Order: sequence, then structure tokens, then C-alpha cells
Amino acid sequence: MGIAEEIKKLKVESNAVILAHNYQVPEVQDVADFCGDSLDLCRKAEKTGADTIVFCGVDFMAETASILTGKKVLVPDADARCPMAGMLPAVQVREAKKKHPGIPVVLYINTLAEAKAEADVICTSANMLEVINSLDSDTVIFGPDSNMAYFARKKTKKNIITIPEAGHCIVHRGLIPAKRISEMLKLHPAAILLAHPECEPEVQEMAHHIASTNGMLKLARALPAKEFIVATEEGLGYRLSKENPDKKFYVLAGAVCRNMKKTTLEKVRECLTRKEPQVFVPPDIAKKARRAIERMMELSKG
Ligand code: SF4
Repeated sequence: MGIAEEIKKLKVESNAVILAHNYQVPEVQDVADFCGDSLDLCRKAEKTGADTIVFCGVDFMAETASILTGKKVLVPDADARCPMAGMLPAVQVREAKKKHPGIPVVLYINTLAEAKAEADVICTSANMLEVINSLDSDTVIFGPDSNMAYFARKKTKKNIITIPEAGHCIVHRGLIPAKRISEMLKLHPAAILLAHPECEPEVQEMAHHIASTNGMLKLARALPAKEFIVATEEGLGYRLSKENPDKKFYVLAGAVCRNMKKTTLEKVRECLTRKEPQVFVPPDIAKKARRAIERMMELSKG
């Protein structure tokens, strides 16, 4: 029996569902019940009837699934952490609230549970503008991604106070430089440039469309263009090509999130066999964080 078959069997035995982020390696995406971006996976986690969730992604995603469902959430690799999420400790959110009393705090889903517990509402790259625009305030505290703050400032015209000042994704900042994007645009003049809002402002300015990974999947299906340059983690290229075999997608070689790639089929099988490692969020933190996540879900019903 192949490893994918073994995983299917173990999944049935433990009434488990496998959720995988769009940046996971192809073979992990292929064994998953659902692939998607953070918002999509939150919705899937909320609706699942399974007893156990195997979350193939990074730390904050598995925490969010655990907070939303209260179910057993297994992570194939407990060291798969998002460095951006680690850039905003809860204490810094508390300090910002003290410094700017009454100003709503919107935190990107790429934050750890303790920070989420301090937020008024959470957002993802798919619903950030919707969430910020829904708030009855001209000023918003936002963190941790300063590039997403740039995008939000431009699109919402609100005053965005960023915490920390220069939070960022190491992949979108360091491995998707504007110089390489402009070279690719010259090389493929007919291509549409899709950029993630975690990209640097220079890349955002060159983009034809700025979207979450699921937003990019929708655009690739809907637009008549036959070629796309994809400015995000290279894992999305697999799903884009699989769903649109008649179109070409140029991803940046080397735009790889090492943490996303820590999950392998062997580790998925291992965690289903051993029923660990399991995510644990302290109940008091989970309760507070859940309020902020649920508020986001209410604001973005789509
Ligand atoms: S791609 Fe960037 S934001 Fe996403 S998990 Fe990796 S480091 Fe974090």
C-alpha cells in the first residue's frame, strides 16, 4: 500500500479531515480533503463533522482551527512556524491599545493566539478591506504585516497605525524582489501580474491585481489571459496549473516558505498514527481570541 493510501485508511479510522494551505507541497495538497487560503480553511474547519483535524500549514493556522472548533487539531510538524506571526507579541498589542485608547485593533490572521486574544477583530488577506471598512473609525491599529498596511491605507483611505512598525513575511519581502518581477514582466509582456498583498509596495504598484491566494485562483479561472506571473509563495503554482491546464503560470523559483514545506506525507502519516503532536491553546486565551475570529467570520460571510 502506498503512503497516500495508508493516510486515507488512517483518516477514515480516526474520522479525521486533512486541511492544507495552498503553499503546501503538491503531494500533501493531493492527500488533503480541502486546500485553500486561511479564510477558506477557517470556514472548512468550522463546518467539518470530523472528530480530528490534521492541519497542514503553520502554527497560527492550526491554532485558529483549534480555537474555532474546540476539536483535536494535529500538526504533522510542530516546528512549522510563521516567522511573521512571531513578530507581534501580545504585550506589544496591549501597549498599542494603551497608547491609542478607543482605536479598534485589527490583526492579520498570521498572529499567535495570545495576540489574537487582544484584538477586536481578525482579518485575512481575502477580507482585510471588507473588515477595515466595516469599522466605524477613521483610524485603525493593524499588525503585523507592514506591506498589507500599505495596501489597506491605499484602498481604504483610513489612518493605519502599524504594529510592529516593520513586520513582514520573509518570503514576500526577501524572495520576491521588485527587480525580478520587472524582469519577468519584460520577458512575458502578455502576462497578467497577480501579487499577494504581503508583497513589497514596489511589487504591489506593478501588479495588475492584488489578491489572496484564493483570490488569485479565482482570477486565473475568470480572466481570459493565457499567461500569469504569480508573486507569492511558489506552492500556489501547483494548484493554479492543475486547475487551468491551458494556461501558463510563472512563479519565482526560490520563493519558498521553508516552514510551509516542513510538512511531508511521512509526517502526516506519523501524526495520524500517533495522534500527536496536538495543538493546545489555553482556554482563557482561546475564548478571547475566538470572539475576534468570529467577528471576522460575521463580517465576511462570502
Ligand atoms: S509565506 Fe510568509 S506569511 Fe506565510 S507562513 Fe511563510 S513566512 Fe509566514
